[in-house]
Amino acid sequence: MKAEIIAVGTEILTGQIVNTNAQFLSEKLAEIGVDVYFQTAVGDNEARLLSLLEIAQNRSSLVILTGGLGPTEDDLTKQTLAQFLRRDLTFDPQAQAKLDDFFAHRPDYARTPNNERQAQIVQGSTPLPNETGLAVGGMIEVAGVTYVVLPGPPSELKPMVLNELLPRLTTGSKLYSRVLRFFGIGESQLVTILSDLIDQQTDPTLAPYAKTGEVTLRLSTKAKSQEEADRVLDILEQKILERETFEGVSLREICYGYGEETSLASLVVEELKKQGKTITAAESLTAGLFQARVADFSGASSIFKGGFVTYSLEEKAKMLDIPQAELEKHGVVSAFTAEKMAEQARIKTQSDFGISLTGVAGPDSLEGHPAGTVFIALAQASGAEVIQANIAGRSRADVREIAVLHAFNLVRKALLSDGDLL
Ligand code: ATP
Ligand code: MG
Repeated sequence: MKAEIIAVGTEILTGQIVNTNAQFLSEKLAEIGVDVYFQTAVGDNEARLLSLLEIAQNRSSLVILTGGLGPTEDDLTKQTLAQFLRRDLTFDPQAQAKLDDFFAHRPDYARTPNNERQAQIVQGSTPLPNETGLAVGGMIEVAGVTYVVLPGPPSELKPMVLNELLPRLTTGSKLYSRVLRFFGIGESQLVTILSDLIDQQTDPTLAPYAKTGEVTLRLSTKAKSQEEADRVLDILEQKILERETFEGVSLREICYGYGEETSLASLVVEELKKQGKTITAAESLTAGLFQARVADFSGASSIFKGGFVTYSLEEKAKMLDIPQAELEKHGVVSAFTAEKMAEQARIKTQSDFGISLTGVAGPDSLEGHPAGTVFIALAQASGAEVIQANIAGRSRADVREIAVLHAFNLVRKALLSDGDLL
């Protein structure tokens, strides 16, 4: 079923209100496996709404109109739909009874002929009762196209969608999705590697989405149960994870987790807790960003005792007890400095892991290193490991964000070799 949503209301076009009805409808329709192909907004204007309906009937099998069911002159959705379908408007007895009841309890309200319009439906429609308002909704199929009219106020639209519309549309299949998360690959490379799978997709489908420093892949399929969906999605996931990056790394290695809410930081914090280990950090270019991310999670105190923000060379020497001459000799943007910072931070706080970040956030270069050059070290009792990341062409904020992701990824891999993280 190809669906389209038409939001009627001049206030949407002038920016006075946000079209949250379309968002709500799209989300709910996706959940029951109905594909929304178009969302449009049109003012309270008969001619323009008619022209949109003309387009919609040729490209969609479900056309949902929201807004303009009220009593005022500018509310013309039902009238326009009736004109378009060459049908009359008739009264829905149940909605009329509701109006009677409403006005019986409010003797101060003047009942004008306009109010009656709220109880009207396009002839032949199934009325969709309004639990929280007076304007009745409606649903009608004409020439293979189902038209639905819904009230504008979200407080009326939502219960009508959930309790009246969706049960009538549900086909037994639902959309099930799985999100795979990748760190260490760009969106365009991932799309290239998976281009054959993406090009030939109908069901299941694959949708990549890029965020700062990482990419997610949403796998979706329509199925009658979670088990049926899992069977389909497991096969697609295996096909994806078998692929390799241009550098010959399997996608399995850089797929770090599942789900919309998961992050490198959340995985690392959870795993540290599980393994009963502690972490500290000595941060130069990120000036505490890593530590702030750790503290985002409740119970962080069980894995994080404290750490260091050592921005200047002098403070690296003083706070971390690293001979200043050595720092000067190697430079602050160096593998040496990163390693020393991580080691000393770990020793001073008696933590299991010490992470350090030093580098050039930009936009200017430093010590001859271009912006985006970052050294990250991870120290454990057994020794230290240093990586260099070149986060080129990014803003200062992005360089710092992505450097922190590299740091969490380094810890994740170390934990992985001990624990059972993915
Ligand atoms: P009413 O009986 O209140 O006139 P209606 O069905 O005629 O309802 P509109 O007049 O189009 O609907 O809009 C009424 C209010 O509902 C708007 O002022 C706005 O607050 C909200 N609304 C309308 N359309 C949308 C939309 N697409 N997204 C979010 N809110 C909306
Ligand atoms: Mg209105």
